[in-house]
Amino acid sequence: LTRLYAPLTSLAGARVEVMSALVSFERVFEVLDLKPLIEEKPDAEPVPEGPVAVEFEDVRFGYPPAGKVSLASLEEVAALDTWDGAEVLHGISFRAEPGQTVALVGSSGAGKSTIAQLLPRLYDTDEGAVRVGGVDVRDISLASLRGAVGMVTQDGHLFHESVRANLLLARPEATEDELWDVLRRARLEELVRSLPDGLDTVVGERGYRLSGGERQRMTIARLLLARQRVVILDEATAHLDNTSEAAVQEALTEALAGRTAIVIAHRLSTIHAADQILVVEGGHIVERGTHEELLAEHGRYAELYRTQFSKPLHAVAPIPEGAEV
Ligand code: ADP
Ligand code: MG
Repeated sequence: LTRLYAPLTSLAGARVEVMSALVSFERVFEVLDLKPLIEEKPDAEPVPEGPVAVEFEDVRFGYPPAGKVSLASLEEVAALDTWDGAEVLHGISFRAEPGQTVALVGSSGAGKSTIAQLLPRLYDTDEGAVRVGGVDVRDISLASLRGAVGMVTQDGHLFHESVRANLLLARPEATEDELWDVLRRARLEELVRSLPDGLDTVVGERGYRLSGGERQRMTIARLLLARQRVVILDEATAHLDNTSEAAVQEALTEALAGRTAIVIAHRLSTIHAADQILVVEGGHIVERGTHEELLAEHGRYAELYRTQFSKPLHAVAPIPEGAEV
């Protein structure tokens, strides 16, 4: 490899157009044994109709160095010489039946978010397969996959835009009635009606300050509007006080009804309701089962339960480092 690097690095200063005439980047990736950027197959198919199962089969994965290697960073490609290709997921297998909720719990850094990111194909697996509706995600068109799989993360991010614009991101063609319908279901109707400009009130960083719970509910409203059949919630209810939690939880339960869900959760109530709980540690699934089954095993889940979940609801204890559940 060292021999191959020399001529490549000497090109690093050249203009991209010139370089692409000289080397095929597919070839570079091939030779360096790198993952290319996510690619769509020419004969890619849509996600099958109706409720879909989600399946991971012996998935192994390590992050590509420095995120995605781009055309403009040949220096980065050269630096790969020292990259050790550390594997983060070491053979993950599970299946969520159509409409089921699967909860992932485990220590911080265990690999929960990484599992979630493989589903909408933010990255591709190194080995094994991720399937939606029985079809390998690599055989599904990106537009169809991302239209079918929704992901909500913990920030409940809103743009510095109106409530309306923030919601329409989920489905640009939604009608005014549909907006009010999801706001009502996310327990936000009253709040939005009371805002100075209603739906046109600008929210976000420098706009009307919504509380953490209100922001979360706004993302849930967006989720309801988007109607994706598969939903990933990655710590979507973190940072909520317990007053907001009940309302958010109820809205969330509604949002998940009839959808296949992967939930990475901090809250016992969310985990308890899951059809299946997977305990992830060090890139392995170390335990799986229902809440009752896992408690009876007196293993890692039981330990997490003792140290984390059994606190009284109003205790609002900060989650200790390394024990993110
Ligand atoms: P969890 O969600 O369970 O806290 P993550 O899936 O975020 O864990 O992380 C699993 C491992 O992958 C950790 O060692 C983390 O440092 C690493 N990791 C996460 N994201 C990236 C990334 N974008 N690039 C490289 N390594 C990452
Ligand atoms: Mg995470």
